[in-house]
Amino acid sequence: MTLLFRWVKGFPKNDLPKKYSCVYCGTPFDAYPPDDKHDFATRNEKDYEDHIKVDYKCKANDCGKINTIYWGYCHAGAIAIGRFIK
Ligand SMILES: [Zn+2]
Repeated sequence: MTLLFRWVKGFPKNDLPKKYSCVYCGTPFDAYPPDDKHDFATRNEKDYEDHIKVDYKCKANDCGKINTIYWGYCHAGAIAIGRFIK
């Protein structure tokens, strides 16, 4: 159980930055977590009760719109696996 938990915690960090694309124009952007704990990224505010909202401004000159990413913190490794794979 301890090993499983550590693997889950380390897994998303190996996959950073998260690759997203602007929902308005499709321009790709890199999303980095706001801290060490909140390292599960989602666009859905309801995915994680404990999350940090980060706004990313699109880099495209003719767009510049805000894309919001919610960085979730998983308190338990077992829960983290289920939510991450979904
Ligand atoms: Zn854009």
